[in-house]
Amino acid sequence: MKTIESFIRDIHDFPKPGIVFKDLTPLLNNPEATNLCLQQLLTPLAHQRIDKVVGMEARGFFFGTLLAQKLNAGFIPVRKPGKLPYNTISETYALEYGSDTLEIHADAIQPGDRVLIHDDVLATGGTAEAVCKLVEKLGGAIVQCNFIMELEFLNGKDRLNKYSIASIIKY
Ligand code: IMP
Repeated sequence: MKTIESFIRDIHDFPKPGIVFKDLTPLLNNPEATNLCLQQLLTPLAHQRIDKVVGMEARGFFFGTLLAQKLNAGFIPVRKPGKLPYNTISETYALEYGSDTLEIHADAIQPGDRVLIHDDVLATGGTAEAVCKLVEKLGGAIVQCNFIMELEFLNGKDRLNKYSIASIIKY
């Protein structure tokens, strides 16, 4: 069996020149590797009760829904503005140039819900931090933020130091 890492492909100069994009589509294209990755994300959550898994658009949806099924939890999408059809709350966060906004359905989380936040990649931590704020605005308790990959040199963990963080592959 190959390692999970061997199913992650580096794409140079995507989406902009100078960026090396970590592409997880070869992992998704292999059911054994996908299952191995899912089991590794689940291992640190053994014996934890999770009510909701929150996944970020768009690559957080893939393993977010698989995790929710395995944990017998609801799956909650966080999306870019204007994509969710019902009442939403939003959070705006700074990027290197400009800002971005994320939305969640206002009724998606009940106060006291135990929440797992999932995305494919932790880079600067701005996205995950904004999602944590959305969840906490709705009264959710964050059990863990988990990622398939963490780009450690960008120190995203520092912005999330209030939370438990887990990632399978560190670069
Ligand atoms: P951050 O907000 O800087 O931590 O960036 C994390 C967000 O950017 C996540 O939603 C990721 O999906 C996306 N992202 C950043 N770098 C990569 C990458 O190399 N591959 C896939 N997604 C990435």
